[in-house]
Amino acid sequence: GHSKHDKDKGVNVQVLVRCRPLSEDEARLHTPVVISCNEGRREVSAVQSIANKQIDRTFAFDKVFGPNSEQIELYEQAVSPIVNEVLEGYNCTIFAYGQTGTGKTYTMEGGARKKNGEFPSDAGVIPRSVREIFDILEAQNAEYSMKVTFLELYNEEITDLLAPEETSKFVDDKSKKPIALMEDGKGGVFVRGLEEEIVRTANEIYKILEKGSAKRRTAETLLNKQSSRSHSIFSITIHIKECTPEGEEMIKCGKLNLVDLAGSENISRSGAREGRAREAGEINKSLLTLGRVINALVEHSGHVPYRDSKLTRLLRDSLGGKTKTCIIATISPSIHCLEETLSTLDYAHRAK
Ligand code: ADP
Ligand code: MG
Repeated sequence: GHSKHDKDKGVNVQVLVRCRPLSEDEARLHTPVVISCNEGRREVSAVQSIANKQIDRTFAFDKVFGPNSEQIELYEQAVSPIVNEVLEGYNCTIFAYGQTGTGKTYTMEGGARKKNGEFPSDAGVIPRSVREIFDILEAQNAEYSMKVTFLELYNEEITDLLAPEETSKFVDDKSKKPIALMEDGKGGVFVRGLEEEIVRTANEIYKILEKGSAKRRTAETLLNKQSSRSHSIFSITIHIKECTPEGEEMIKCGKLNLVDLAGSENISRSGAREGRAREAGEINKSLLTLGRVINALVEHSGHVPYRDSKLTRLLRDSLGGKTKTCIIATISPSIHCLEETLSTLDYAHRAK
């Protein structure tokens, strides 16, 4: 992050908001728009007035991307600086947070527009990050190794999206057994048996990403999961060999986590905002704990409740300390989403 806020508090959490455009259907139905984005002032306003009910609220963020923003703008302005930090040896995490249908997956993975072989213009954060990481490493003629993992968290259970087919028949009872999260005895955690794929080219990662995403969809259908309730974490770990001016060899290690979170409606409707955590915790413990962890980090309150959810345990080495975090809060401009939009803006604003 580069905001004044960072320097004030020494915390590197950057919060930005992206508003999607109205869908074709919404436009055809003349759905009223209640959100306006001022990118220059970095503000989002929600305005609605019906008879006896008036809403007029403005929120400021580190960055704001309006409905006409392109994937490339968001990438260059918000993500590219983080990718460069990863290559300097930082652990960084980018979250997409928001109501289902507001563009989390579009922002992280991108649209389906494919031109034969060409890099699609609506490619999202993940493929763009991968491409830039390889471009930079190649340009530096660096000696490096890279591996990726891709997992899904649903109801506090981990599914490996890269596990080979024969060990992951979702219809088979045997393999429904959840993958275990283990303490490594040094304050970190690891996921026992999680597939780590070594990758050498950007194309290999695109294929892995596609395979994992397809698997996520298949699993949803077979197990009757609601995709809006699962988190996916795509992680890239890079080791780069470097020489100090004295000629000593050194290995620099950086990690980038790209997280497509469960739909935020899963917590806000149950009153989690007001701190009635119990019932909400059952609905989505990880989403709720993430909010608490980020609050604790930005407020510098002593106890950071990493251990309270699998998501925060998994990301512990990338949250707090010498790390960078970016939260992309996605919202809809529609009047029908206003209540959820206000919840999202509140959650995101508190993370600042
Ligand atoms: P989520 O993952 O939050 O549930 P999606 O990413 O699936 O939402 O987006 C819902 C729909 O809106 C998709 O059809 C997607 O292509 C479209 N969409 C989302 N954000 C944008 C955007 N910024 N520009 C154009 N279309 C978008
Ligand atoms: Mg999605």
